[in-house]
Amino acid sequence: MWIDTHCHLDAHEFGAESLDVARRAAALGVDMIVIPAVARANFGIVRELAAASPNASYALGIHPIYVPQASDDDLDALRELVAHSIDDPRFVAIGEVGLDFFIPLLCEPDMRVKQERFFREQLRIARDFGLPVLTHVRRSQDQVLKHVRQVRPAGGIAHAFNGSFQQAQAFIDLGWHLGFGGAMTFTRALQIRRLASELPLDAIVLETDAPDISPSWIHPGRNSPEQLPAIGKALADLRAIPEDEVRLASGRSALAALPRLAPLLAHRSG
Ligand SMILES: [Zn+2]
Repeated sequence: MWIDTHCHLDAHEFGAESLDVARRAAALGVDMIVIPAVARANFGIVRELAAASPNASYALGIHPIYVPQASDDDLDALRELVAHSIDDPRFVAIGEVGLDFFIPLLCEPDMRVKQERFFREQLRIARDFGLPVLTHVRRSQDQVLKHVRQVRPAGGIAHAFNGSFQQAQAFIDLGWHLGFGGAMTFTRALQIRRLASELPLDAIVLETDAPDISPSWIHPGRNSPEQLPAIGKALADLRAIPEDEVRLASGRSALAALPRLAPLLAHRSG
């Protein structure tokens, strides 16, 4: 099965098309799309979108880019909604959360502190409810690893992974998975392509991050979960293995990373 472990299907770039996009992706063999939230304002939206699409599920969290505007009240609301949603089979993870030490505003000293505080509290929510974490890691591999080691949530995905082999191994040692997508389709992305071709296949999950990180063949156009099978094919080519092997292995990895997907997918095929 093809699973898009990270897709912002609610993004404004999709306009009123989100449900059609999910349907078209399903027709291309994309059995599941995981839609992370980014801020309190879209918690309800990702939930409704997942409920309306047979091949979608969702995560709840506050993205580092939305941390400047977020309040402690939003963290309380998140914890409450997670408790309330834990019986919803389509709710599969905490995310998108993380640390971004690339965007200048987010690197200001007080904003670094606020980011780490929000990330840490959301890791605690994940741990307390036994949920995996969809994690944005930008210029922050070692800091993310430090917090994950200390809080120990149930597992997670380092999304759009772009670190070193050593950092990849540190995530793998913690039982985490690494997300790969459109970035590895660019021939100039030497390090990402080396990681994608040499890391153990069972550590890799596929993602589009649509509407962002479009693969080379549609760049700079709007990315879509419809691209996931072609991105899987690109990974198969990089590793010089059959596409089917990537489809099966990446599907298994996604289920290992996001265990709540298993009953959802069993229900779909059964
Ligand atoms: Zn994202």
